[in-house]
Amino acid sequence: MARRKKVYEGKGKVLYEGPEPGTFVQYFKDDATAFNSEKHDVIEGKGVLNNRLSEFFMSGLNAIGVPTHFIKRINMREQLIRQVEMIPLEVVVRNIAAGSFSKRLGIDEGEPLPRPIVEFYYKDDALGDPLVTEEHILAFGWAGQQDLDDMVALALRVNDFLSGVLLGVGIRLVDFKIEIGRIWEGDYMRLVVADEISPDSCRLWDIKTGNRLDKDVFRRDLGDLADAYTEVARRLGVLPQTSAPLGKPTLIN
Ligand code: UDP
Repeated sequence: MARRKKVYEGKGKVLYEGPEPGTFVQYFKDDATAFNSEKHDVIEGKGVLNNRLSEFFMSGLNAIGVPTHFIKRINMREQLIRQVEMIPLEVVVRNIAAGSFSKRLGIDEGEPLPRPIVEFYYKDDALGDPLVTEEHILAFGWAGQQDLDDMVALALRVNDFLSGVLLGVGIRLVDFKIEIGRIWEGDYMRLVVADEISPDSCRLWDIKTGNRLDKDVFRRDLGDLADAYTEVARRLGVLPQTSAPLGKPTLIN
């Protein structure tokens, strides 16, 4: 079989040229990184779980009319996506204080916020993805005013959808990060949710116990990351109820 052309390799995923122009194949790796890659490990099965979970969230968003880059899952670790022009920002939505927000503003982790707060971070590993304001974004042309308004609206719709779906399975959506891209259709451009939505990019707390079911398990050495992600997948019906050997999830179609 002919080798595929690799377009990009990141910390957790690889992008290959897709079968049709305007498409990519997104491959989910088992690598886990934190603190700007200072901490790194390979968690067997993580890529398989994130591929399924991202499929679950993105196809749900597509179904309610929130556009995403997701087309279909191809196999255990790969999904077909639309090629987009990435906006170099991470869009974070917060419902409850945690992580860098708690540190920066001195607000205890777990403190509910008066309303969802949307933040932008400039994607630059060398700078450690700094928090930026709309002024920076407009002045440097990373996005325009209309894009900013659309990105906030998109992020809040994603927040409502994810919060509701997760609440239904006893999980609190504390915060999450999305990335947004542009798709051109003739002269028209629209913004779509891109990259991935998985426990790597969300903070998920069990409503009853407060247990962390996200990447903080890895960042803060709180236990087995694959167990936590398996729990999320199982509750959402992405995995069967019966348990599988650690790190080797049995997946349903
Ligand atoms: N996040 C992410 N990638 C990043 C930075 C943050 O996916 O490069 C997610 C993170 O998992 C959390 C949210 O964005 O759900 C807010 O993260 P925060 O700013 O609190 O940073 P952290 O404390 O994770 O460094």
